[in-house]
Amino acid sequence: MDKFQNLIAGQWTGSDDHLININPSDTNDIIGEYAKGTAAQASDAIEAAHQAFADWRHSSIQHRSDCLDAIGNEILARKDELGRLLAREEGKTLPEGIGEATRAGQIFKFFAGEALRIAGETLQSVRPGIDVEVFRQPVGPIAIITPWNFPIAIPAWKIAPALAFGNTVVFKPAELVPGSAWALAEIISRAGLPNGVFNMIIGEGAEIGEPLLHDQRIKAVSFTGSTKTGAIVAEACSGRNARYQLEMGGKNPLIVLNDCDLDNAVNCAIQGAYFSTGQRCTASSRLIVEAKIHDEFVEKVRLGIDDLIVDHALADGTQIGPVVDHAQLEKNLRYIEIGKGEGAQLLTGGETIERSTPGFFQKPALFVATDDTMRINREEIFGPVASVIKVDDFDQAIAVANNTSFGLSAGICTNSLRSASRFKSEIEAGMVMVNAPTAGVDYHVPFGGTKGSSFGPREQGGYAKDFYTVVKTAYTNP
Ligand code: ADP
Repeated sequence: MDKFQNLIAGQWTGSDDHLININPSDTNDIIGEYAKGTAAQASDAIEAAHQAFADWRHSSIQHRSDCLDAIGNEILARKDELGRLLAREEGKTLPEGIGEATRAGQIFKFFAGEALRIAGETLQSVRPGIDVEVFRQPVGPIAIITPWNFPIAIPAWKIAPALAFGNTVVFKPAELVPGSAWALAEIISRAGLPNGVFNMIIGEGAEIGEPLLHDQRIKAVSFTGSTKTGAIVAEACSGRNARYQLEMGGKNPLIVLNDCDLDNAVNCAIQGAYFSTGQRCTASSRLIVEAKIHDEFVEKVRLGIDDLIVDHALADGTQIGPVVDHAQLEKNLRYIEIGKGEGAQLLTGGETIERSTPGFFQKPALFVATDDTMRINREEIFGPVASVIKVDDFDQAIAVANNTSFGLSAGICTNSLRSASRFKSEIEAGMVMVNAPTAGVDYHVPFGGTKGSSFGPREQGGYAKDFYTVVKTAYTNP
């Protein structure tokens, strides 16, 4: 079996303990054995990032840009291979895996440009004769803690801006997907960065993640993952005045109005709710449908689900890959029972299915006759499960859509410009889609939510610098 190590201070470093990376489409397929870092190694990685920061913060922007560009170019050149590895370990389909790898490459190239555009301002002082300058500086060593559902894109959209703006990095990927993380780290290790600027350490959240939160040498934490862990990150960082940024769950609504293009609405619902096996924080899990179109919409979605090809992520033609692991599958099945128990009608799907390989396959599920008090409409499931809530009119649709503790992404299907405009203004979400699925976003514009979904400055695009730089104001009396 292939064995993989951690990158600490520029050295590949082993460990006595390992994580075994298993293909969720075929549990007989072992991808590799990945060194599980120790708390002492996490401290070594932090020290390396701390030491390297002293010089890297003053590195030339051309050097940073060249490194990021080289990383982006290699990812793009190897996108098919990286996408295949990603699909093999995480379970999204091969085209989705290649798409994600492509996005990661594009992100590095975008931030190769951003490294050259760290702008400041000069202003006049209110005191005559004084000059005022506002400029941006790096924050310091940054801990990057990522989830399993986008194993290369999420690390890319945190690591690239961190390095572009002169910070150093300790990257802790999710336990379930060390393969993509290792491949990315290996590419970064050859891009020309000084030793210690970028470190990667694989391991359990409580063992490796938690020490990063409490260490005074770590000046900021960028986290994407569950609401529960987000609260731990917030408490640890706010307690010691470290900067932090959280991207957590979603319970994203898709409103379908009577005047929509029905086929497009059905497509938005199926894509948004079930593609990537529903394992996206932007997935539309609440389909809020106006009464007149409800029955026709529901019937078309049901037929669409029944046609979906659920199979091995790498098989030709697969549209929905497996659930990521046994624990997530159990959780999905538990929510199917919870939904039935609270009176929702399971119209189709929800059951596990057998394929030619042993994997965690589940038929996408659709609940109807649900309301916004039910747990299936209030708690994030993170699987291929969606529910329909019937509403009388647009006002009720907005009220139901906003009746949630989350606020990441929200969509509407309508041909009314007036309804679309009102929706964009009144919906409580960080990202708003009109006649498009709630999932599927560009890489060069801000990503993030409101309410319980996100905290801190936005990720991605030009806005990323608000987290990865500190603003300094200088007064000069020439
Ligand atoms: P998910 O349910 O999506 O796996 P988690 O929040 O458990 O979400 O995991 C997201 C990331 O947070 C993973 O890299 C995980 O190892 C890490 N993590 C989990 N618990 C902690 C913790 N107590 N402190 C720091 N990081 C953690």
